[in-house]
Amino acid sequence: MIKTDIIIIGAGPVGLFTVFEAGLLKLKCHLIDALPQPGGQCAEIYPKKPIYDIPGYPSILASELVDKLMKQIEPFNPGFTLGETAQTIKKNSDGDFIIKTTQGTSIKAPVVAIAGGLGVFTPRKPNISNLESFEDDKVFYIVKEPSLFKDKEIVISGGGDSALDWALFFAENYASDVKLIHRSDNFRAHNDSVQRALDYSKQGKIKMILNSQVSGISKNENKITLDVQSKNNDLSKINCDNWLPLFGLTPKIGPIGDWGLEIQKNAIKVDNATDYSTNIDGIYAIGDVNTYPGKLKLILCGFHEAAIMVQSAFKKVYPNKNNVLKYTTVTGIKGF
Ligand SMILES: Cc1cc2nc3c(=O)[nH]c(=O)nc-3n(C[C@H](O)[C@H](O)[C@H](O)COP(=O)(O)OP(=O)(O)OC[C@H]3O[C@@H](n4cnc5c(N)ncnc54)[C@H](O)[C@@H]3O)c2cc1C
Repeated sequence: MIKTDIIIIGAGPVGLFTVFEAGLLKLKCHLIDALPQPGGQCAEIYPKKPIYDIPGYPSILASELVDKLMKQIEPFNPGFTLGETAQTIKKNSDGDFIIKTTQGTSIKAPVVAIAGGLGVFTPRKPNISNLESFEDDKVFYIVKEPSLFKDKEIVISGGGDSALDWALFFAENYASDVKLIHRSDNFRAHNDSVQRALDYSKQGKIKMILNSQVSGISKNENKITLDVQSKNNDLSKINCDNWLPLFGLTPKIGPIGDWGLEIQKNAIKVDNATDYSTNIDGIYAIGDVNTYPGKLKLILCGFHEAAIMVQSAFKKVYPNKNNVLKYTTVTGIKGF
């Protein structure tokens, strides 16, 4: 059994920064994440995109932000259980919580901070029966490493921001041939991206196949062949190296939804007037996973929530101790 002061569910940017804020108060943390690496959405969905609204960084790649957060929390030596989903929670006779993961790891602490973001990532997949056998080789639902598609002929499906952003990116970098298949001729992406994609289409940098969708996939030596069906039921075939159906991720709160927490619109309701506590004493929710009037799902806001939350957590861990806010410029960083 792993014992700690705060169990943090979710090693996204907010979970990671919580370790830092808790460390300043000498509270030890253990993080659990269903993904095999830390970074949450930044690492899983958009590692190579620049973020422009992190204070002090005019521009920083999402993956770089994760690296810097990992460096910043190093002195506080957090524990990590990665690649495992927090499945169940129970209250122990001594008042602590015990969380068990899908792989059977048990972690015990007086405080739980849920920083579960969108929840467990589940991409929306096209309904094609033999798709699984091509996954992570020819078919990808998330672009983690763009250089993988260098000089490749790729087909992207989708009409939202993710599909358009990556079509534009690959048309400008890496890929040798980019086709965009969309089931309609209306896009759900930002107007600016749609306009640029239409311009690229006129210039022949992106080939757009509208009012159509992929209805089948088969192996073709080292490549794949996609069956494309138009709205008028015309059938055609496309040979390519990779297919990226980018239909977005279904936000699923996952097992946490069954823990007796008050859920509103797929997020955990918290008290934002005080400390981001949930309806269960000792359990907090911070970052994208929570909701309250005026909530903004931004990294910046999650960082703020983490700083407030750990002050309250300190009182739970040490009910008889007083904590006085001290500036890091005065105390420096004393790790443990
Ligand atoms: C394309 C895109 C661009 C964005 N650009 C910006 C931007 O420019 N600026 C900005 O501020 N924000 C941006 N965001 C939003 C930002 O990424 C989120 O606000 C931020 O990631 C929230 O951090 P988090 O730590 O709360 O959650 P997440 O990053 O979602 O991390 C949550 C983690 O919890 C894990 N988890 C969930 N449930 C469990 C469980 N039961 N057990 C174990 N692990 C679990 C998940 O696997 C995940 O890794 C963008 C988002 C996207 C998708």
